[in-house]
Amino acid sequence: MPFSSYIGGNTRRGGGAGTTWAQSLLPSSTAKSKIPPRRSRRRTALINFLFTNFFTIALSISLIFLLITILHFGVPKPLSSPFKSRPKPTFRLPKPRKTIPRKPQNDNDNKDAVFGAVVDITTTGLYDKIEFLDVDGGPWKQGWRVSYRGNEWDTEKLKVFVVPHSHNDPGWKLTVDEYYERQSRHILDTIVETLSKDVRRKFIWEEMSYLERWWRDAAANKRELFTSLVKNGQLEIVGGGWVMNDEANSHYFAIIEQIAEGNMWLNDTIGFVPKNSWAIDPFGYSATMAYLLRRMGFENMLIQRTHYEVKKELALKKNLEYAWRQSWDAEETTDIFVHMMPFYSYDIPHTCGPEPAICCQFDFARVHGFYYEMCPWGEHPVETTPENVRERAQKLLDQYRKKSTLYRTNTLLVPLGDDFRYISVDEAEAQFRNYQKLFDYINSSPSLNAEANLIVGFPSLSGDFFTYADRQQDYWSGYYVSRPFFKAVDRVLEETLRATEMMMALLLGYCQRAQCEKLATGFGYKLTAARRNLALFQHHDGVTGTAKDHVVRDYGIRMHTSLQDLQIFMSKATEVLLGIRHEKSDHNPSQFEPEQVRSKYDVQPVHKAINAHEGTWQSVILFNSLEQTREEVVMVIVNRLDVAVLDSNWTCVQSQVSPELEHDRNKIFTGRHRVHWKASVPAWGCKHIILPMVLPDVKKPYQLN
Ligand SMILES: [Zn+2]
Repeated sequence: MPFSSYIGGNTRRGGGAGTTWAQSLLPSSTAKSKIPPRRSRRRTALINFLFTNFFTIALSISLIFLLITILHFGVPKPLSSPFKSRPKPTFRLPKPRKTIPRKPQNDNDNKDAVFGAVVDITTTGLYDKIEFLDVDGGPWKQGWRVSYRGNEWDTEKLKVFVVPHSHNDPGWKLTVDEYYERQSRHILDTIVETLSKDVRRKFIWEEMSYLERWWRDAAANKRELFTSLVKNGQLEIVGGGWVMNDEANSHYFAIIEQIAEGNMWLNDTIGFVPKNSWAIDPFGYSATMAYLLRRMGFENMLIQRTHYEVKKELALKKNLEYAWRQSWDAEETTDIFVHMMPFYSYDIPHTCGPEPAICCQFDFARVHGFYYEMCPWGEHPVETTPENVRERAQKLLDQYRKKSTLYRTNTLLVPLGDDFRYISVDEAEAQFRNYQKLFDYINSSPSLNAEANLIVGFPSLSGDFFTYADRQQDYWSGYYVSRPFFKAVDRVLEETLRATEMMMALLLGYCQRAQCEKLATGFGYKLTAARRNLALFQHHDGVTGTAKDHVVRDYGIRMHTSLQDLQIFMSKATEVLLGIRHEKSDHNPSQFEPEQVRSKYDVQPVHKAINAHEGTWQSVILFNSLEQTREEVVMVIVNRLDVAVLDSNWTCVQSQVSPELEHDRNKIFTGRHRVHWKASVPAWGCKHIILPMVLPDVKKPYQLN
């Protein structure tokens, strides 16, 4: 509930005593006038007819409605799972190797179903069951030695989808602008150039913060190429959020804002609506995120950083793909299909199969001449040639087959990328060239040529994936509380943004005068910037506190700048809504000021004291951005103690004045006073409070020196 204090002096009384100009800003509906009933014989006869034939009339009306509905909408179809009705999934088309029948319901299940969802797996159940022994599994350290018989694909052949990707953090070791200049802009250039050369090449992109920036810099022909790559399916935008948000610290308001901001830009600019979410790096996953994505229309989601023991347990039962269901959802309307990656990381050594020493040999950016570290397991990638292609392809296929035994279907998703990859055309060409040779060889073998089908028979799961551990009992829980100052600034920006958005809506919707529109439209780009600065901080190295100091400073300055912009707008908008601001004065500062201000991005806010002279009065405006009435005790600081609180009708409100104290060796009294009173502010409304100074008969409640 941000408030503003009016410190413009005592020249205006805003409509004067007894008026109601400062009440709720929402348009009010006028009560319907009561018209006395006209009595006549015809009317009485009609009433009698209606009463005696009530059921016949009601049945006839119902039948007519039913006919109209069927004619208009057709015969209704039975409800079906969201997975079955997917129009054209671009992510996976898995065909089950084996259907797992739904768990029969026992008495306990039925009892639970009254209160919540019936599910096959709960994460709390997993945590109870797992012993967390951290057993060394061999080449797949956190798993086991995976093997297969060799005849698993005789009837249903293995289909592998390799998904080239590049993970671009909008701030981590470098700021978002530094990363953009040094890496991300070149990566996007590289993608456009190399994908245009061969229609078989594919790529996915996640972060709209970088794409929007690149779009502004890109020449028209590059933009067109990018759009055509999206349209022909070579380039898929996944998630479409401004960033890949954290799921532990981010408030759902900020998550919705950041996904909406990115997706709206994407739809407006490229005309694409993602169906698949891609979250490979957040440090644990919340059930709320799955819920939000489903409600936003996403159909599939991919996750990676879950506890390694949980991965192992799910992999043992082939439960790494499931329908994520909300625990309270007995109707099963919230199910979203999830693919959980099985291994330690999303880099290439940990995505082709269970043995990183082998998979690393298929990361062709790790050869001499490129920027990346060599394979730490000793064996390095070699260029694919006609002489070695058979041996190399079989080695890679062996990993794919082993990985596929962890899933129920004959289709396999294999991400191919890492942090800030595909930075140069040479690097991208090395990956695409070698993989094309390997796949040409594999595909020329008739034993690997299958078509995919629709998904059936996945387990359902409810719960979340916190606390994350990546290896050796290392738990990622510190980031829940690290850099608490900036976590708090995040929440302040959120509430201020919410209040500004509401005020903007009121300004545009309620006030039709020219000066209203001018202020609102003129502020539009700053409002967008504020949304984007808040969105940026939701990144999994932003609100989490895991970025370097100078990156945190960059986030902090962005949030501080937007906070100030929003407060200036709110102050001016308040004046317009109260009818005391005019077009000519648009460039003048507002007569209202925010009650709390920060002088710098990294300092605590301070309460501004309302300074007034004897015989004057001040206005305080309380604004409620929520959709329900708020009743709270509010406080402002004043520079003198002989004040009273009056409502907009100039009626006295019970209040308390107390000294403001501080911890100081020399003095404890700051010389200022706190005025508290109980305020009730209507939904989406303002409250006008008047603080008269020095009433002649006011009694001084205390005296401090
Ligand atoms: Zn990341």
